[in-house]
Amino acid sequence: MPSQPQTVLQVALPVPLPRLFDYLPPAGHQASEQDVGRRLRVPFGQRELVGIVEGCAPAQVEATGLREALGWLEPEPLFHGELHASARWLARYTHAPVGEVLATALPATLRRGEPLPDTHEWAWQLTEAGASALAGMRQGRPRRLAELLQGTVRDETALDTLLDGWRAAARSLAERGLAERIALPASQLAPDPQPGPTPNPEQAEAIETIHASAAGFVPLLLDGVTGSGKTEVYLHAIADCLARGRQALVLVPEIGLTPQLLGRFRARLGVPVHASHSGLADSERARVWAAAWRGEARVIVGTRSAVFTPLPEAGLIVIDEEHDGSYKQQDGFRYHARDFALVRAKALGVPIVLGSATPSLETLHNARSGRYVHMRLRQRAGSGRPPPVRVLDIRKRPLEAGLSAELLASVDRALAAGGQVLVFRNRRGYAPVLMCHDCGWSAACPRCSSPEQSRAMTVHAHGRRLQCHHCGHRRPAPLACPDCGGLGLQPQGIGTERLEELLLARYPDHPVLRIDRGSTRRRDALEKLFAELGERAGVLVGTQMLAKGHDLAGLTLVTVVGIDEGLFSADFRASEKLAQLLIQVAGRAGRAERAGEVVLQTHHPDHPLLETLIHGGYHAFADTELAQREAAGFPPFAHLAMLRAESRHAEPPMAFLHAARRALAAWQDQAGAGPAGPTVEINGPMPAPMARRAGQYRAQLLLSAPQRAPLHAALRALVPELHALPEARKVRWSLDVDPIDLY
Ligand code: ADP
Ligand code: ZN
Ligand code: ZN
Repeated sequence: MPSQPQTVLQVALPVPLPRLFDYLPPAGHQASEQDVGRRLRVPFGQRELVGIVEGCAPAQVEATGLREALGWLEPEPLFHGELHASARWLARYTHAPVGEVLATALPATLRRGEPLPDTHEWAWQLTEAGASALAGMRQGRPRRLAELLQGTVRDETALDTLLDGWRAAARSLAERGLAERIALPASQLAPDPQPGPTPNPEQAEAIETIHASAAGFVPLLLDGVTGSGKTEVYLHAIADCLARGRQALVLVPEIGLTPQLLGRFRARLGVPVHASHSGLADSERARVWAAAWRGEARVIVGTRSAVFTPLPEAGLIVIDEEHDGSYKQQDGFRYHARDFALVRAKALGVPIVLGSATPSLETLHNARSGRYVHMRLRQRAGSGRPPPVRVLDIRKRPLEAGLSAELLASVDRALAAGGQVLVFRNRRGYAPVLMCHDCGWSAACPRCSSPEQSRAMTVHAHGRRLQCHHCGHRRPAPLACPDCGGLGLQPQGIGTERLEELLLARYPDHPVLRIDRGSTRRRDALEKLFAELGERAGVLVGTQMLAKGHDLAGLTLVTVVGIDEGLFSADFRASEKLAQLLIQVAGRAGRAERAGEVVLQTHHPDHPLLETLIHGGYHAFADTELAQREAAGFPPFAHLAMLRAESRHAEPPMAFLHAARRALAAWQDQAGAGPAGPTVEINGPMPAPMARRAGQYRAQLLLSAPQRAPLHAALRALVPELHALPEARKVRWSLDVDPIDLY
């Protein structure tokens, strides 16, 4: 048979190889440009994978050995237009395989090859027979349901809140032909919007500025102190976007996506608000993605991965708490959702609002140099007042479970006045170290090592259990010292569990609730704890989980203890993180009518960071810190990339990174010393600050350059070589462009 010139499909697959894979189209299909962005199933080795068509090309002579794709997953491309182009950009920027990026952009069910889900909401209505039978129905649930449905259609989500056990009642009505289930497009379900407070002058100005930016890409920083009403500004900007007939995407930190926040959005906007976060079932996240893809979802509120939401009718992107670390994906393919959102907003031609009381230094630098519009909210909205901060010098003072007498006295006063108190300690567990008082032995994790104390295993369960916070390794606490056999084992230092123990004993008549990752594994556990506390006077003990999220109107006192170790960290971002944390935690007090107070106890009351922060505020801190970053050549005045490698053996990571260094140096020599010449500085390789973790030896190579372009040129040349290095086969390696942590 004379063979026609064949066209092959170039397919992106979710495998860690920086290339596309050629396949013949499924039997009976001619490939064309129309297929770009479509999902299809292909054979790969012994497996079957779901891939995305990235292009098609005439077959080469050697195409005879190509395998045939197994079949299409849907008739039309899932990726097209802006999202496809932006995802490709992200693959280039992170130097990650495009197949991995596209797979990440899809919800898990679509990645696995399940069909694009149906996005209808189900609702119930009475049939004609039902409407006329209502008057004669017996009392009971079916009748109560029929009454709820009289003259109206109600969706199942609404029924869940209206009538317990309505499903059985609905079945019973349906069996008798009295009610029926119908499908509604999501966009038809609209609660009536409720009015909000009248914006104050600063808010009004911000709302107007965003409104005036609606026609194109404008990055705007909403730099507003805690409680200044940033969320109100978002709500106005979103309502404005909806009125223009466009979709809005709102990203919030992992911990910020509370039922409280969603409730506020739903009540105010008068359209369904689609939530997307890691607590949802895969099928639910896929439904949200599909509803956005079809343009049915008008407002999508989600955490990091929601940045991949398709927005065919985009009008606005909002990044709440833009400085938050949870926007950076820390393993696998490492992207920054805020930075990617900026790229998408530009490609979509829509404004993007970055909001924070403590903007990241990168963002602040961009705002100050005029690249972003800088909007300020300097005052608290409504009746809230910024709380005064009192620094307690605890040098040489006796402490009880790490708390000074003065601090406890202020807790006494706050509780007596009927207030709620937050005791902030960013260390969970009972105590950070278990030490032998006789010989100095301390419990260390057998699978981790680091030069610092961080290797120590944390004491949990009131001294009964040891746990490593780096690798999760657990074991029972020994009863006697493994070294000297003595019985002098003592927990050293203070964790949230130990604080809880002390406070429970001291305040037996008040609720004392601990909030940290140990006590709130499930997403709704946190809300349950807050509901349990209600408006009662009581104490919350917890870690940075308490720094944001749920708004506590009754909080009158915030106490901060045990931050001293953070003042002396070697990481260049440590000061920024600590400053943000302190401002955010302090900002939890005095959110409503009741005045608030913040008490910070420290052994270093005159540390420059605390001095600047307390007397000058976050912006004064940021000025000092930016000057230091500039002098030291750190971001935002330099651009970094970190190459990491790990292995079960000690040698291979360093060997791989040395080979990488040689390859890069050779490329730099060749690229020559022209104006765009070798300006990438190579630091290392060196063992990671935590040199062994969960049994893996780890090493790193840091690249830095004053400009982005030469760094990326070097990475473009280096990454294909890395994949080909023989040393690469003995390690797991990863590249982190714009790393947040240098360890
Ligand atoms: P932020 O997001 O900056 O922390 P919110 O938008 O949550 O601040 O506002 C803090 C509190 O102030 C909320 O209880 C909110 O309802 C209230 N609030 C916001 N703006 C106003 C306003 N213009 N007038 C009265 N109360 C307001
Ligand atoms: Zn001992
Ligand atoms: Zn460990």
